[in-house]
Amino acid sequence: MSLKCRKCHQPAVVNMRQHKLALCEAHYLEWLPAQTQRTIEKYHMFTREDKILVAVSGGKDSLSVWDILLQLGYHADGLTLQLGIDEGIRYSEQSHAYIEKFIRDFYPQAVLHTVDVKAAYGAALPEIAARDDRAGERPCAVCGLIKRHEMNRLAYELGDTVLVTGHNLDDEASVLWGNLFHWQIEALVRQSPVLPADRPGLARKVKPLCRFYERDMAAYALLRGIEYVYDECPFSVNASTLRNKLTLNEMEQEQPGTKMQFYAGFLTARERGLFTLPEAEQVPLAPCARCGQPTSAHGLCAFCKLWDHR
Ligand code: SF4
Ligand SMILES: [Zn+2]
Ligand SMILES: [Zn+2]
Repeated sequence: MSLKCRKCHQPAVVNMRQHKLALCEAHYLEWLPAQTQRTIEKYHMFTREDKILVAVSGGKDSLSVWDILLQLGYHADGLTLQLGIDEGIRYSEQSHAYIEKFIRDFYPQAVLHTVDVKAAYGAALPEIAARDDRAGERPCAVCGLIKRHEMNRLAYELGDTVLVTGHNLDDEASVLWGNLFHWQIEALVRQSPVLPADRPGLARKVKPLCRFYERDMAAYALLRGIEYVYDECPFSVNASTLRNKLTLNEMEQEQPGTKMQFYAGFLTARERGLFTLPEAEQVPLAPCARCGQPTSAHGLCAFCKLWDHR
């Protein structure tokens, strides 16, 4: 017997076993933005008066979150970084083409800020990562560092801007898995749907999709007609988050709802104060001598040091 939409009893196209909820196309496209709005309100992420910058990569999650925020009436610009990951599948080029197509097809008035890392700093990601590839996961570490720095810089330059990323529940659960497995206390303290702008020079960072499964976001993009880059970044094969995702998916397969339970339990524990550091243990930050962003390093921040190793 085919599943029926809980709201209108027409045939369902999406079945979310973790919510015991099946919906037809029209009701799913209504439900997901409405749930996003609930998450935004629950965690006091931002209001319609705030300026928002969405980090877009050309993937389903970042394009969908931008789409949802614009539909919901928020003032949201896009920000993309051209990292020059262009060997083989020309990943950066493809990603950018999808972002441009999304704007053309859905929001021709939308504003996109683009940072070309090589043009701005003199080297693309593969060149920087190749200088020191001991860990195997070096490209992702460098990539994360560049993204965090540049997102913060833009948010600061545009003035009082909230940074939005498209992390979904699978992303958050796999990072949580890694953080717990290695007992990364500082990372656990900072893993949150909202990272407040609690130090001068740092923008507030929020994840409005953190309660949706990856599969549900793929369904949203498909039903909404958002085309996105399907190929994975060539460096992602080494990413430990991908391995963690596979493990969690196996557990989900055996017991639907496992990922949701794991992540939601963490959020409850956070709310009850389990993951906080006493003030005395918080790492003191000072402005970087070159770029001015807060850093725990003495002198230059890790981002500025990257460019001195040429
Ligand atoms: S897989 Fe790694 S290098 Fe590629 S975009 Fe993601 S973080 Fe960056
Ligand atoms: Zn329906
Ligand atoms: Zn710096």
